[in-house]
Amino acid sequence: ASKMLEPYRATYTATAVERLEQQGVVFLGSTNMDEFAMGGSTENSAFGPTKNPHDPARVPGGTSGGAAASVAAQMALVGIGSDTGGSIRQPASFCGTVGFKGSYGSVSRYGAVAMGSSLDQISPAADTVADAALVWSVMKGNDPHDMTTLTDNVWTVSEQADKQQYRIAIPRQVAAGGVDDQVLEIFNKKIDALKEAGHQVEEIDVPELDHVLSVYYIIMPAEVSSNLARFDGMRYGSKVPAETMWQEYKQTRSQGFGPEAKRRIMLGTYVLSAGYADAYYEKALALREQIRQKLRAIFSEYDVVATPTSPVPPFMIGEKSKDPVSMYLADIFTVTANIAGLPAISIPAGSVEVNGKSLPVGIQFMAGSAQDRQLLDFAKKVESNS
Ligand code: GLN
Repeated sequence: ASKMLEPYRATYTATAVERLEQQGVVFLGSTNMDEFAMGGSTENSAFGPTKNPHDPARVPGGTSGGAAASVAAQMALVGIGSDTGGSIRQPASFCGTVGFKGSYGSVSRYGAVAMGSSLDQISPAADTVADAALVWSVMKGNDPHDMTTLTDNVWTVSEQADKQQYRIAIPRQVAAGGVDDQVLEIFNKKIDALKEAGHQVEEIDVPELDHVLSVYYIIMPAEVSSNLARFDGMRYGSKVPAETMWQEYKQTRSQGFGPEAKRRIMLGTYVLSAGYADAYYEKALALREQIRQKLRAIFSEYDVVATPTSPVPPFMIGEKSKDPVSMYLADIFTVTANIAGLPAISIPAGSVEVNGKSLPVGIQFMAGSAQDRQLLDFAKKVESNS
C-alpha cells in the first residue's frame, strides 16, 4: 500500500502463495494495509483507509486491516497478511475473526516484502481456528529460499497428542491498569469459562514485559531502516528523475514514502548510528534475549499465556492517526510473540456496545516455540468453550 511500489509487479511468486496455489486455492485479490505494514489501523495506506465492517466509522485494525475486514464482511474465506508486531492478530480482534501467527520460521518469508526480518511471519485471518490452521499448515514448512525456516523435524518432535487440560498463565500487567474496562471484562469472562472447563489458570510476574514495547520499537525500526534502503528509485518501483543520483534518491524517497514509513526509517537510522547503537539497538537486543529466556522458563511450566489481543476496542478513524505513540501503545500485548518468535493466536471473545454498535473484542493466547499445533488445538477448545 505504498506509492513507492505503484508501478512494480513481482517477478516471482512467494513460497507461501505458491504452496496455496498448488493446493488449488483461488485468489480473489489483494487487500489494503498500512504502508509497508507499519501501523495499527490501515489508515497509513496510499489507497486510503479500510473501514471496519462492524462500524464503518471505525478502523479495522492493522496493518492487515483489509485481510481481516474482507473475512469479516464475508468477501473471502481467508485473508493473508504479514505479522511483525501483531498485524494479523490485532485486525482479527477488531473485526471479529481468528488471526494466527505461527512460530518464527514456520512459514517461509521468501517473496514477502521485508519489514523487520527477524520478526516477520506470513499469517492467515479466517472465520474459524480450523480454517486458519488449515491455511497455515499448507503455507508452512522448510524452504531452501529462506534460511530462517524451521526444519521439518521440529514439528514431529513437538506435536503432542490432544491435551485435555491446559495450564494457562496471565501476566500481572493485564489487570494492572491500562486495559479498557469493557475489554478486561470480556477477557475475565472468557478466562472464567476456561476455569470452569477444567483448565488451570494462574497469574504470573513477568517484569520483562514492561519493556517489550520499547524493545520492539527499537529493533523493528532498525530493521525497517535497512530493509527499506533498497527502495531508492534505481532498483524497484517508482522513480523521481533528477540531475544527480543523490538528488534522485532524495526525491524518490521523499515522495514515495508516507509519513509513518519515513518516521520509522529515521528512528531506525538513529538507533543504529555510531554513538547511539550501544545505547539503543545493542541494549534492545540484550533485553530481547532476556525476554526470550524468561518466556522459555514460563513455557516449561505453562502451556499458554493469555492476554487481551488489544487493550482497546476498535477506535474511530482519525482517533489515533495524529498521535503515533498512542497507536504504538495498542501493540503492548501482540509484540512479545514476535520478539520471542513464538506462536500466538487471536480469537473472538465477545463484543462491546459503543454508541449502539456492537464491536468485536479478541483474546490472545501465546505458546512456546514450535508448539503451534498444541496452541491451535487449545484455541479450538476456547472457540467451542470446552
Ligand atoms: N502495529 C505494529 C507496528 O506498527 C504492527 C506491525 C506489523 O505487524 N506489521 O509496527
